[in-house]
Amino acid sequence: MSTAFQITPSNEILPAPDREKALENPGFGRYFTDHMVTAEWTEGTGWHSAQLRGLAPLQMHPATAVFHYAQEIFEGLKAYRHSDGSVWLFRPEANAARFARSAKRLALPVLDEKLFLAGVEELVRADKDWVPAHGGEGSLYIRPFMFASEAFLGVRAAAQATFCIIASPAGAYFPDGPTGISLWVSRSLSRAAEGGTGAAKCGGNYATGLAAQEEARANGCEQVLYLDAAEHEWIEESGTMNICLVTSDGELLTPGLGTILEGVTRDSILALAAEHGLRPVERRIGLSEVQQRCEDGTITEIFATGTAAVITPIISIKSAGTDITVGSGRPGKLALELREHLLGIQYGTRPDSHGWMRRVA
Ligand SMILES: *Cc1c(COP(=O)(O)O)cnc(C)c1O
Repeated sequence: MSTAFQITPSNEILPAPDREKALENPGFGRYFTDHMVTAEWTEGTGWHSAQLRGLAPLQMHPATAVFHYAQEIFEGLKAYRHSDGSVWLFRPEANAARFARSAKRLALPVLDEKLFLAGVEELVRADKDWVPAHGGEGSLYIRPFMFASEAFLGVRAAAQATFCIIASPAGAYFPDGPTGISLWVSRSLSRAAEGGTGAAKCGGNYATGLAAQEEARANGCEQVLYLDAAEHEWIEESGTMNICLVTSDGELLTPGLGTILEGVTRDSILALAAEHGLRPVERRIGLSEVQQRCEDGTITEIFATGTAAVITPIISIKSAGTDITVGSGRPGKLALELREHLLGIQYGTRPDSHGWMRRVA
């Protein structure tokens, strides 16, 4: 199909003073912009009915497949306001490509990457006043998703799917500067296994991670550090963020792809590593190596990467009977430098030497 959207502006635009009030302290995922994008897919017909319209509830039959078998995928990316007022996306093609890979794994129809990008751009343009002002690390978080919308209880790939994009203003993730967090290593719960859906960005991975997240909280940690499901030894990721480690001999270590989510931030940090004197290395990393090398000081920093927080320093790793302090127990120097670098590219205050930014408004 073409990438043309039928555009029906909302007749319930939030008045500017109310929007400004929401933008003063948006938090994350609490306020939504005036519009949304939707498109429908039907087996045999393909994609159709692509439109931009006012944000509104979706009506669904109780038998809609996604409620029962979780056939659903999503993406997360941001729009950033530069100092001249213009609005930019960061590597949206990478999200479009990953969305297509996730769709294949969940037996959902693949959405043309051009349609994905056109939908994101249409929505950001329509709701550009919702992109927070330059200068405060605020952004407009964009959430494209797709789900099985056929009302049918049989177990097979649905013959109808719905694509939707909504957007929500996000405040600075760390209003007082990045603070380090602690990770909890769950010894019994796994996130992904060989042949599973670990590399797909699907809601099901999050549903199965919530119990481990509760376990982390109960043990005084902010996030989970997942190990591989077979040997419970190899570090994977945190469930919403990828993991990087800095060594005293200048390596930027990160687990290789396979059962982890291929983060756009992870990839970008690996690409920037050399400019910070680091050699990127993707390989298997054992928890016992992490413990030993944090103790002997040859692992100097650990941090997590993801669109929401960019880089989150990790200051300790805990599990039943283990308590590993990372570096000095404070956010690491290179983590903070890499964070500043990536934010600088995203907000247009540093040169975009990799050609990652795409202007939309
Ligand atoms: C989205 C996500 C990440 C981070 O990916 P980015 O593209 O950097 O935002 C990491 N792990 C999981 C499980 C995710 O869903």
